[in-house]
Amino acid sequence: MKIKEIHSKSILSPSKVYDYVINPYVGCQHGCSYCYARFMKRFTGHKESWGHFVDVKINAPDLLRKEIRKKKKGTVWISGVCDPYQPLEAKYKLTRECLDILVQNSWPVVIQTRSPLVLRDMDIFRKSKNIEVGLSITSSNDEIRKVFEPNAPSIMERLETVESLHRNGIRTYAMIAPILPEAENLVGILAGKVDYIIIDRMNYRHADRIYKKHGWSEKNTDDYFNRVKNTMRNDCMRLGIECRSAY
Ligand code: SF4
Repeated sequence: MKIKEIHSKSILSPSKVYDYVINPYVGCQHGCSYCYARFMKRFTGHKESWGHFVDVKINAPDLLRKEIRKKKKGTVWISGVCDPYQPLEAKYKLTRECLDILVQNSWPVVIQTRSPLVLRDMDIFRKSKNIEVGLSITSSNDEIRKVFEPNAPSIMERLETVESLHRNGIRTYAMIAPILPEAENLVGILAGKVDYIIIDRMNYRHADRIYKKHGWSEKNTDDYFNRVKNTMRNDCMRLGIECRSAY
């Protein structure tokens, strides 16, 4: 794993999903097989494969302190690409510092991660009146998670994390994206742990060979994703959970 500390030029970037996005890290130790963020490699000059390098924006909090004074208040997504609570965050605390600045200034925040490390920042979440914390949960079967996301936290850890946040009064969601095999029954498992779910199909070709190798190609078709969407929508309606579909 190649870790490099870098000085970024800016940190609060415009986003198509929310008003802004903050990415304290470029590169991701989770290294998921299907990750769309690997396109970022082109802009970094790294020769290592995806999941084997991380650039750490060590000046992220300093930049944010300056930029927040100049920009119009809006919702900040942490993060769009590259997990903000990947293992390196335990050491660098860049996500924590940025989050603290945003909350002190009463900016709305949406967190998205696969990691239980997010629980470390519960003290800051509790201070915010406008925060949502989402865990990406892509299958109910940890054996399938191991195939696609071998270096990311287990499904059980993610479920326990989102449940703990919810129990502590934080608004939570599950990002079921991309829908992996055996994701169909996730809504029932998530009941009582989340306020809403977001679902999306597999949109990238990077993992095609994995589907093929394991005989799961049928689980990567329009038909499959439409069936799963219908099942999840019905389950959400029955259980009173809001369902947002991106496809
Ligand atoms: S956690 Fe997210 S950003 Fe990191 S490798 Fe996996 S999909 Fe990509």
